[in-house]
Order: sequence, then C-alpha cells, then structure tokens
Amino acid sequence: MVIGAGVIGCAVALELARDGREVVVVDRVAGPGQGSTSASSAVIRFNYSTWDGVALSWEAKHCWESWRDHLGAPAGEPLARFHRTGFLMLDVPVADHARTAALFDRARVPYEIWDAATLRARVPQLDVARHWPPKPVRDDAFWVEGNGELGGLWCPDGGYVDDPQLAAVNLADAARRAGVDFVFRRAVVAVERASGRVRGVTLDDGSELSAPVVVNVGGPWSTKVNAVAGVGDDFTVAVKPMRQEVHAVVATGEVTENLPVVADLDLGTYFRRMPGDSVLIGGAEPECDPLQWLDDADSADLNATAELFEAQVTRAARRVPALTVPAAPRGLAGVYDVAEDWTPIYDRTSLDGYYVAMGTSGNQFKNAPAVGRLMAALVEAVEGGRDHDHEPLAFTGAHTGLTIDLGAFSRRRPLNAETSGTVLG
Ligand SMILES: Cc1cc2nc3c(=O)[nH]c(=O)nc-3n(C[C@H](O)[C@H](O)[C@H](O)COP(=O)(O)OP(=O)(O)OC[C@H]3O[C@@H](n4cnc5c(N)ncnc54)[C@H](O)[C@@H]3O)c2cc1C
Repeated sequence: MVIGAGVIGCAVALELARDGREVVVVDRVAGPGQGSTSASSAVIRFNYSTWDGVALSWEAKHCWESWRDHLGAPAGEPLARFHRTGFLMLDVPVADHARTAALFDRARVPYEIWDAATLRARVPQLDVARHWPPKPVRDDAFWVEGNGELGGLWCPDGGYVDDPQLAAVNLADAARRAGVDFVFRRAVVAVERASGRVRGVTLDDGSELSAPVVVNVGGPWSTKVNAVAGVGDDFTVAVKPMRQEVHAVVATGEVTENLPVVADLDLGTYFRRMPGDSVLIGGAEPECDPLQWLDDADSADLNATAELFEAQVTRAARRVPALTVPAAPRGLAGVYDVAEDWTPIYDRTSLDGYYVAMGTSGNQFKNAPAVGRLMAALVEAVEGGRDHDHEPLAFTGAHTGLTIDLGAFSRRRPLNAETSGTVLG
C-alpha cells in the first residue's frame, strides 16, 4: 500500500507493481498529483550538496528524457514534457562551484564555469552585478549599486517539466496498466500493526485495508501520517511543512528568448520560462525573509500574496532588467515537506513493513521516477531480510550505472553537513 498519489507516490506504486507486487494507492484528494506536486516548479537540475543527490538527479534526468518509454505509454497518450533549456547557477558564497564541479566530474554531468563576460555574452538579458547578501526589497540597501560581478556554473542538460500534475497522472496511468488500484477521496486515519509489524491501514470511512507493506509518501502531511503510525522516535532528522509562493509574470521575447533556468541565490530567487511568453519565479530562502513554517500543512493559505509577489518579482527584475513588475499578483502557494538538512528521507522505519519517502524539501520532483525505483529496491531488499539500518543498500541507476548509497537518505543519518540550507538541498 502506498499512502499518497503525488508524483513520488505514483512512481513508487508503479515500480512496486513492476516488481510483481499487488499495489493499492490511497489518497484523500480526488486524483493524482493534487497535493504539493501540483504547485511544483518542476525544475530539473543536478547540483546537490551530496554525491548521492547528484547521482540520483542525473539518473532521473534520463527517465524524463525518455518519458514515454519510461512509462510504457501508448503513442498518443498526452504526456508532460521535459524542456531542456539549460540550468545556470549564479555565483554565491553558500554554494561552492568547485565542489559541484568535482561531483559533476565524478557523475560525468556536462558543465561549464562562466565568468561575468561569458555570462553577459551567453545570457544577455541578465544583469551580472553582484548584490550578496539578499536584502528586503523595501530596504534602501536593495537598490544600492552592485559590488562586483557574477559568473556562474552552466549545465546544458537542466530544464523543467511543463506540467508536474500531468507527470503524476502519467505515472498513475502507467501504474494502472501495471495493475495498481487507486482509492481516491479516502484519508488514512490509522496505521494498524500486529506483532511489531504493519498490518494495514484504517480509512476515514471506517474501512480497513490490509497490507504487509505500507509506504508513507504523504508529502507535507507525511509527519502526521507517521504520528498515526506511531513512528518517528528514532528519526535524527526533523521534518516540517513550509509554505512557499511561486509567481508568474507575462514577459516579452527579450526576456524569455533562450532563458535557461536560473538559480540566483545572490538576490534570493530562482526563475525559468514557462510555455507561452511567461516567467515563473520562486524564492530561495534568503535570510532576510522570514520562513513560513507551518504546524499543519492544511493551514496554508494557497493564494499568492501581494508582499511576496512584489519581493520575488522585483528581485527577478533586478537580475533581468527587461522584466516588468505587474501591479496585480499572479501565482500560487504550495507547501514543502522540509527536512532540517534539506535532504529527503527514503528509508524503512522502526515498524517492520512500514517505509517512508518524505522530507522532499522542495527539491525532489525531478527525482521522482528514480525514487520509485530505489524505494522498490529498498522494499525488496528489506522484506528479503537485509539489515538496511546497519548495512545500507547501494542502488545502481539503470541509465547511468552510478551507485547511490541509500544510507545518505536514512532517517537516522547524521545531518547533511554540506547542505546549502536552502531548497537547493
Ligand atoms: C512551490 C513548490 C515548488 C517546487 N519546485 C520544485 C522544483 O522546481 N523541482 C523539484 O525537483 N521539486 C520541486 N518541488 C518539490 C516537489 O514538487 C515535491 O518534492 C514533490 O512533488 C513531492 O511529491 P510527493 O508525491 O512526495 O508529495 P505530494 O505531491 O504532496 O503528495 C502527497 C499526497 O499524499 C496525500 N495524503 C497525505 N496524507 C494523507 C492521508 N492521511 N491519507 C491519504 N492521503 C494522504 C495528499 O493528499 C497528497 O496527494 C516544489 C514544491 C513546491 C511546493
């Protein structure tokens, strides 16, 4: 049983079914991808703070590139599309290009290091001035001239998926073809156990579904699901929901032409083009802006606010001077499931048979197809008797041949000391 039909839950269900298991997915909403997946910016990039993060994202990129094959989808089925626009990480003290470059060399991810002159020539719509650290846009200091110039790390294989919810629907359709059943509009309210093992779940209509294996893929509700399962005491990594806004601005071709995905931690945003002449702008947790932690993901107001719209779009317009800041906000809010070191938890738990794929920290949409495979491999190994807590499983990507130590995603890991402390992971 998989709890949650987001992009990761559907990927996990698909791969469990491909391994020959009988799978049911339960979700309290009406269809696939309607939780935090629906708000995702769906950026595809490979710069994570750990080897395992880099290797996982590089493996997953190959799944997006061959999406129809990955799904086994018939010709004509409408699919989400990966747009290979390139990804540009602007210079910033909290993310060292030398470290990323070393990890990219090891994974054989192509990249170039650009100085300011190259940046100006290659992405002429960007102003290359350095502004670090980010400041509130209402602060006069925000408007002070830059102090120097920026370069960046360019990765031609980055980009974005144009419809994250459709990607989850695609995975759900593939899962159905593999025999998975979906139960929508039903919430899991209890996780049942017998003799120290999971036995199934109780739904909000009082019915019980029995299952020898339950995987919690509840997105920003995952910690709540763990609480009803009585699991979490041995986690070294705390996980909490965080509200996030993403904004959309109509722009001219001068802005959007060949615009890659840009991570601009120097000013505190990231942005990318959208289908049609629009730009999508998200936040990168600048220290000057308060973080919007939530006790309960359901308490999040999902409407964009004028203040954050002004802050994020003005920051993007500082970097892309041809971008205009409209008076009326357009955008949405979503909820991240943030692990304290911004690294996900893909693991078994202290309750035998009960697994988690959670703490995705605003940065795991891109990895979903590969996470499905690693979770299925983990379930297979642990149910087969492997002591994953003491001998972490190594997972080898089918496309890249890269080996990923699943201990890096353990619930009991030492916190990732290399984290950027932001959505970059
Ligand atoms: C604003 C925003 C921007 C993002 N941008 C990016 C990006 O650019 N790139 C990237 O890689 N990642 C990004 N992410 C992160 C990415 O979207 C998530 O990591 C991913 O979508 C999580 O998928 P999921 O399946 O784990 O969770 P979800 O999509 O949240 O699915 C969880 C599901 O569980 C269900 N559920 C919860 N509790 C219960 C229960 N008790 N009973 C039944 N069902 C339950 C919910 O209804 C929900 O449908 C972003 C996220 C947000 C919010």
